Amino acid sequence: MIRHARSVITVCVLSAALAACGTADAPRGGDTAVPSTPAPSPPAPPTLAPGPAGLTPVFTSGPRTGGKTVALTFDADMTADQGPRAAEGERFDNPQLIATLRALKVPATVFMTGRWAEQYPIQARGIGRDPLFEVANHSYSHYAFTADCYGLPTIDEDRMRADVERAYTAFRRAGVPDAKPYFRFPGGCYDQRALRALSATGVTAVQWDVVGGDAFATDADAVARQVLDWVRPGSVVVLHCTRSAAPTTERAIRTIVPELRRQGYRFVKVSELIGAVASGGLT
Ligand SMILES: [Zn+2]
Repeated sequence: MIRHARSVITVCVLSAALAACGTADAPRGGDTAVPSTPAPSPPAPPTLAPGPAGLTPVFTSGPRTGGKTVALTFDADMTADQGPRAAEGERFDNPQLIATLRALKVPATVFMTGRWAEQYPIQARGIGRDPLFEVANHSYSHYAFTADCYGLPTIDEDRMRADVERAYTAFRRAGVPDAKPYFRFPGGCYDQRALRALSATGVTAVQWDVVGGDAFATDADAVARQVLDWVRPGSVVVLHCTRSAAPTTERAIRTIVPELRRQGYRFVKVSELIGAVASGGLT
């Protein structure tokens, strides 16, 4: 499967046209050309040990010592009931942002909703198959897992686990081969009940220590300043990959990235920071 994936990526690069990558599902016949030798499975992504009573562990930032690393994370938001708005032309994606991250060679973690992957399967697949990025779970519906969370509709406790699993199904259907076992609560809202409801999924919940403030922002410089003011070694920055709700993010990134590099920071994916903590790095 990995070899097959590589060949698909190569075709995409050569054609230099995302549209030429076709729809999410590769034709069945394409698999017959793949050698039957099974590809080695990639190493399991690092996760944190469960909390007390098996609760879903929560990760907020990486080690503060041992190097200037920072993880940029982008929430690809789309709520389950926003389909009609997308049909009318509202854009919940941000391909220019992804292109800029690629041009600047910035590794990043994209917390994607399942609904987003259904709406933009070619982009989801392109992000999921690009080694520069990793796809993580931001729920299927983008409904809140607690009451009173930024006005989001609330999901019932007995549907929480299924909502997370439905997002992974949506990623697979879009062609994302190995979405990570990391979950970001919509709005970052969670409580003990939500952590308990998700314990059987094996995910590590991922919060952040730096709010980019790009949601509904109109001033890219203000977003960049906020990020630059708050980043410390090991920081996890939350930003968005959703043009309609975060139109300045791509411009802010063009300021943030060179400045943090000038300061000696190295951009990493969340999995690297979780791995550093799981292997004994101190936070
Ligand atoms: Zn979100």
